[in-house]
Amino acid sequence: MKKIFYMFSFVMILSLAFQNISYSAPTDSEMANLRSIFSTSIRPYTYWPVEGTDTNDMSSAFGPRIQYTTGLVDFHRAIDINATKGTPVFNVFNGFLFSIENYTSGGLTVIIKHTLPISARYNEKTIKYFYTYYMHLSSIPNEIQNAAKGTYIPAGSVIGYVGHSGTTTDHLNLELRMGTPYSLEWQTANKTSSYNMGFDPHINPMILYRDVKDNFTLAKSANSNADLVINISTARDYLVLNRVDFRIYDLKGNVVSKQILDYDMRIGYDATSTSKLDTINKSKMYISPICFRSTSSIFETNIVIPAATISAYPSGSYTYQINIQNIYGTWWSTYWK
Ligand SMILES: [Zn+2]
Repeated sequence: MKKIFYMFSFVMILSLAFQNISYSAPTDSEMANLRSIFSTSIRPYTYWPVEGTDTNDMSSAFGPRIQYTTGLVDFHRAIDINATKGTPVFNVFNGFLFSIENYTSGGLTVIIKHTLPISARYNEKTIKYFYTYYMHLSSIPNEIQNAAKGTYIPAGSVIGYVGHSGTTTDHLNLELRMGTPYSLEWQTANKTSSYNMGFDPHINPMILYRDVKDNFTLAKSANSNADLVINISTARDYLVLNRVDFRIYDLKGNVVSKQILDYDMRIGYDATSTSKLDTINKSKMYISPICFRSTSSIFETNIVIPAATISAYPSGSYTYQINIQNIYGTWWSTYWK
């Protein structure tokens, strides 16, 4: 009896020691609720973060992208806004100074803590705050540099100046983190912390701003693997797509196949390891990003549906439908036979 107990304890200890924090994400209903809080209680009071710029100056959207420097695909958990060095950076919403950091790749960074006007649920936890990160700054005004942690910072205050600290091109990297200031990587590396919630707090910062009418164009083609490639583009200079829902219907209108890519829930990414959040799962529908090609005046990206997933359902005998949802919850939809 005793022996069995010891064995049981040993197995328990082993499993704790080697336990990975399993990655989890906000649910659909949590995101719907957050959208409504942002839309009614936050968005009317926000500032765009870089003086003299607008959404057309965005050089990298939230979501899958090809990295500037390495050419590799990653999941950009921020938006980038191009501006010249020294351009004032504004606090986007009333908040409190949380900290000033100097990260290796993020550079000089100001972090502001904001109280959610209404507490919300995120990843099945009650959250009361969100955090904004302003990265790659060239400098910070003295009144911010010398302010104590917790100092009230009204929306629109200058909290820094655009630069390229930690990177090579002058731009602001703006991040929005829900509930905790700590990234999933930090949580994973600090398992004893009370902040250890095992989720990626980043959502698309465009939720802070006015809804824009999406006006996509869509083109279908195939690559050499006979994958179905759907190119979506917009002349608006950036995409705020947040979910792709692809369905195949039989002639009676029954759904015979359905695949989802979701940026908030990271569906479509390898979620088995926290170190692989950037890795696209290519066994199902995936994004093949080209969304911030700097030479192009339009923003576009490719959605790839692998041949293996459609071979049993040839177009003609089946109807294909693609539904695209933006960060504001608006759906755009089209289908073909
Ligand atoms: Zn960035």
